[in-house]
Amino acid sequence: MHGGAGTIRRSDLDAERENSYREKLTEALVAGSGVLKKNGSALDAVEMAVRFLEDCPLFNAGRGSVFAHDGRQEMDAAIMCGRTLNAGAVALIPSVRNPVTLARRILEHSPHVFLAAEGALEFARSQGVELEASDYFFDQFRYDQWQSALRQNAIFIDHSSDKYGTVGAVALDRHGNLAAATSTGGVTNKRFGRIGDSPLVGSGTYANNLTCAVSCTGYGEYFIRGVVAYDLSCLMEYAGLNLNEAARKVIWEKQLALGGDGGLIAVDAQGGIVLEFNSEGMYRAWEQEGAAPQTAIFREG
Ligand code: ASP
Repeated sequence: MHGGAGTIRRSDLDAERENSYREKLTEALVAGSGVLKKNGSALDAVEMAVRFLEDCPLFNAGRGSVFAHDGRQEMDAAIMCGRTLNAGAVALIPSVRNPVTLARRILEHSPHVFLAAEGALEFARSQGVELEASDYFFDQFRYDQWQSALRQNAIFIDHSSDKYGTVGAVALDRHGNLAAATSTGGVTNKRFGRIGDSPLVGSGTYANNLTCAVSCTGYGEYFIRGVVAYDLSCLMEYAGLNLNEAARKVIWEKQLALGGDGGLIAVDAQGGIVLEFNSEGMYRAWEQEGAAPQTAIFREG
């Protein structure tokens, strides 16, 4: 799992805050891996883990999402199944408590893959997806961040502040199936219907049983241009790179060359994992069968 990547400095993070992040990431991880331990599907596991962080205001997804220029909180999310290559994605949706669950409903109950804004909300209502009033999503820290972005006429990628971040999960289940999910409020002060990489299949989220499951976090515009998640999978499928080599290539060579900063988490069909980032830190947590859950934030983490 990841909880966002960026300029996370030790000096910005006191022990108490660091512990809260680690605690929440671990709880989400344990919820997701609990599904896998009961022989559940990777798809259920990633949805469960992401839902957990969407409900936690510490992260920029669901409750506690960043504010857009017009003062609204609009969220993006995607989920993908590596066995079938089915996917569901949503963008620019207010009011939905768990955008990842709406994405899952699209995957299962819609002939389409990607729904946005008002139409996506209409679909959510037709599916009985849980909705909340706007004050449910409010978070004072995010509000202040937005006010400061407005004053500076700037767009803040969540990375350059001391509160993170987009969330994502990848999993391999006991049946050999992979899945990935990503959920975000996007960037503070976003305008004009801006959508990042997170809900774009192949950019921020991708899963394919032949290769790997991937969830990205970082400066979305660069991750879109790099088609990062699919590129990672392609480097494995067509160029024969292993997961580590492929992750290092996309994050350290290709993203850096473009100017993109951030990271990704991925698991391959053999259960190998990578948590690669070129930013100062990335909130992350992982668990492999038979071993205890682990968390890290900084590079040496
Ligand atoms: N990638 C996300 C976006 O650009 C932001 C993030 O990962 O924090 O919307």
